[in-house]
Amino acid sequence: MRTTMMDYPLLITQILEHGRKVHADREVLTWTGAGSRRARFAEVYERIGRLANGLAGLGVGVGDRVATFCWNHQEHLEAYFAVPCMGAVLHTLNIRLFPEQLAYVINDGGARIVIVDDSLVPVLARVRDQLTTVERFVVVGDGDASALGEAVLRYDDVLAQAAPAYDWPELDERAPAAMCYTSGTTGNPKGVVYSHRSNWTHTFGAAAGGLQLTDSDRLLLVVPQFHANAWGLVYVGWALGSDFLMPERYLQPEPLAAMIAAERPTTSAAVPTVWNALLVHGEEAELDLSSLQRVVVGGAAVPRSMIEAFEQRYDVEVVQGWGMTEMSPLGAVATPPGDAPASESVDWRAKTGRVIAGVDLRLVDTGGRELPWDGKAIGEIQVRGPWITAGYHNAESPEKFDDGWLRTGDVGVVDPRGFIQIVDRTKDVIKSGGEWISSVDLENAIIAHPDVVEAAVIGVADPRWDERPLACVVLRAGATVTPADLSAHLRERVASWWIPERWSFIDEVPKTSVGKFDKKVLRARHEQGGLDVEEQAR
Ligand code: ADP
Repeated sequence: MRTTMMDYPLLITQILEHGRKVHADREVLTWTGAGSRRARFAEVYERIGRLANGLAGLGVGVGDRVATFCWNHQEHLEAYFAVPCMGAVLHTLNIRLFPEQLAYVINDGGARIVIVDDSLVPVLARVRDQLTTVERFVVVGDGDASALGEAVLRYDDVLAQAAPAYDWPELDERAPAAMCYTSGTTGNPKGVVYSHRSNWTHTFGAAAGGLQLTDSDRLLLVVPQFHANAWGLVYVGWALGSDFLMPERYLQPEPLAAMIAAERPTTSAAVPTVWNALLVHGEEAELDLSSLQRVVVGGAAVPRSMIEAFEQRYDVEVVQGWGMTEMSPLGAVATPPGDAPASESVDWRAKTGRVIAGVDLRLVDTGGRELPWDGKAIGEIQVRGPWITAGYHNAESPEKFDDGWLRTGDVGVVDPRGFIQIVDRTKDVIKSGGEWISSVDLENAIIAHPDVVEAAVIGVADPRWDERPLACVVLRAGATVTPADLSAHLRERVASWWIPERWSFIDEVPKTSVGKFDKKVLRARHEQGGLDVEEQAR
């Protein structure tokens, strides 16, 4: 028997058209430091058409790569639609990569055009001479761009000279739409190529699975548009008609707080580091978070103390999400199950998340055997599904796959109802005397101390136990806490053999290009003798 259903392609274009027709009056706001510039979806749609025409006029055709080197703003959102919907491929570049990595990623991606913010021209200019495929730079803003040489056009000129209506092509849903490189926390960045179909299915999977925006939401998009497909929120927000509040470069706690107070978002999304900085700022300054109902926090484990601080001080609900660039990125969302009493809400939110419909997940031991979802068995989490990558651009990586499943490199447990608790990344877990210590759990326990601002734990060589934890701790200004105090604090929270005997007080935990703890850097610093380590018997 044949199906009677339409073979209707799953294209980003359909999401674009839906937002235009149904949510024409919703707005995209871009913060300028002292107010916002704003445009309705209807106007943004017209500019998306102009951008597509403008890029076509520059010779961009189906399959060509157009890169962005931008903060979060309206033009970046325009590129998120114009480029894939015209059949080209959007390559969002991480503005915080080291120059060698940046040049590598641009060349590997093969962009012909780079859309770049005027404020970021000096950063891109450092690698200009190494770029092998780029023909033109399209600069957003009218600041000096001479450092990029002759091949510069202005974004607004490109749009002004182009017609607003674009005849969007009928593409194959499997055609490439966008590419994003992993942020390289554990190695060199690797390119993931999303299709229209993967983005389309991710949009609806994420919306159904927990990123439930509505047309009464105002979404403050803090997660960079170059980090893991902006967590899919550009397409989810446009489809569901939430206003976009784009923070541009104003990501430090003070300007971010000013934007929140002025523009009154209902929801937002960012890595824990951003929220931690905001909460610390709130201890000295008056924060107006009264408009916020919930914030999505993901990309790294969310400490329970952060969930409590948001709820108790600001009445804001934390929604933890888990995923990775390779997963478009969403795989799990920590929403308490319906029958959980309100008193247990924080316990559920502190879990990594519940696997969302559309993602197939399994737990596998080191011998490749599948483990039960009993909340006890610990193994590697593996996933597959329509928005999970099956490989990498220009890179064979058989070690990342297992019989059609993506190996996430995350180790954890899964309970009978699909709630995941990640214990650690395989590369970060501390192997002490044949047993595992979760660096994530230790960090969360340490940061629960009121005088601790940040804590990162790494495994260091130990003659007796092979590896033992070294806790690198950032204290609140003026705090006089000692390793003995912190050990006592941990005694009530973790097994006694987990308690570190090595402590280092540092000014700040080094961060990766997307704001996660950079343990690679900490390990290297320790190996080179760059950390002052205090010993404290357990
Ligand atoms: P990178 O791998 O370079 O850091 P990604 O942003 O794709 O780039 O990171 C994905 C990884 O981030 C996951 O494999 C996982 O280790 C970690 N991660 C994401 N969300 C969470 C979370 N809620 N809890 C713990 N770890 C998380």
